[in-house]
Amino acid sequence: MNRTVRLYSIVDSPRLDYTLQFINDHPLFAGTQLVRTSDPSSELAYGDASMSSSLFIPVQGYFFQYVSGPWEAECHAHTWQSCTLQAVTAQSTRSDYSPDENVFPFDLFESIFFHISRFEEWYPASQNQEWDMLAESDHLLIKYGLEKIPVVDHLVKALWEFVHKKTFQSQKSTLRITHDIDHYRKFSSRWSILRKLAGFVRHRRPMRKLFPLIRSYWNAQWKNAKDPYDIYSWLLTDLPIDKTIYLFLEGQHPLDPRPPSDQELAYVISQAQQKEYAVGMHPSYADWVDSSRLEKTKKRLEKHTGTQVDQSRQHYLHFHFPKTLHALHRVGIQSDSSLGYNRHVGFRCGTGFPYRLYDFSKERSIPILEYPIAFMDSACLHEAKLQKDNFESIFNNFFQSNEQDACLTVNFHNSFFDEARMRSIAAKELYVALLTKFA
Ligand SMILES: [Zn+2]
Repeated sequence: MNRTVRLYSIVDSPRLDYTLQFINDHPLFAGTQLVRTSDPSSELAYGDASMSSSLFIPVQGYFFQYVSGPWEAECHAHTWQSCTLQAVTAQSTRSDYSPDENVFPFDLFESIFFHISRFEEWYPASQNQEWDMLAESDHLLIKYGLEKIPVVDHLVKALWEFVHKKTFQSQKSTLRITHDIDHYRKFSSRWSILRKLAGFVRHRRPMRKLFPLIRSYWNAQWKNAKDPYDIYSWLLTDLPIDKTIYLFLEGQHPLDPRPPSDQELAYVISQAQQKEYAVGMHPSYADWVDSSRLEKTKKRLEKHTGTQVDQSRQHYLHFHFPKTLHALHRVGIQSDSSLGYNRHVGFRCGTGFPYRLYDFSKERSIPILEYPIAFMDSACLHEAKLQKDNFESIFNNFFQSNEQDACLTVNFHNSFFDEARMRSIAAKELYVALLTKFA
């Protein structure tokens, strides 16, 4: 049943309207709409304690007002009803309202806005960078160890309970499968074993790992076995769920892989299309602010797919606010899926549900739908410090604790499983079990 909740606000800001739109579009808020009115006696007020409404959310007046200069933010846990909620507050603006069933304990709208707008990446408070981006160790959720919890989705659920005065009925989480294809083949020629052996020595890999490498090369070259990265027969799922494959195409940056031949590209596209995957582009590390190069990549992919390409994910998740956002918009990309962590498993935006990104330079949303990554295999391996047991426990704990009320975009590379096998990680088994669990 649909319900409209009238909201009176003393704040008038496009940032508030954007946040309200996000909440109204959120699947965990389905059936309920917040509508702003000019009537101070509306049932929900966003203001101060003097309001005459029956429900009240206090205004912090910080992130909606921010223009420039230094800023501060910290996370504060609030126990509210039976759950723990995370507020984003500035030290100077902490409210001291005592919450009850009609008074929300903190400014939930600004807390949501902080995470989804990527405020801290638009206005980085530190120079600490990795791959030209704010280092993940300086992200607020990482600093507080909250990245494994979809804190924004918890706030949306709490708001639903606050306005409905009843308990939210939990739902099974949604899984969204994606793959980045960086390396089309492990052994691109007879001589590529020499490069692998050089890498083996450079990275000081243990000698016991040498035999499996030579065996897989031998099998692929001389026994007509499939290349170790050609695992599409089981990696690509038949499940009728949302699924996208992102293909690397062009680029010569040192962090880029070898570009595929037309034949290699056509092969993967045909495998993906047979399983009804959407095909997106995976632009070069260097192509993060340059729309003419993005356009070239997009055109090459469209020539192969025969359809318009409107999905994208940056290689290394290399994303600049606002330059990458504007460059993708200029070439007609409608959805991006770059906002995840390279070094951690978890929710960089505080949510895993798709939503429209915010453009601070225009103070409005931009028509690019972001599908935040919740889990990426290589990030899990990094967080696990390359250790099998750590990897498996991070993997299992993350999916167990997010079985309900989450949207989980996961990214598994075709090249990852070979590396996992060398480290004795049962990645294929974990992946197949994950598909079964959420199917
Ligand atoms: Zn990549």
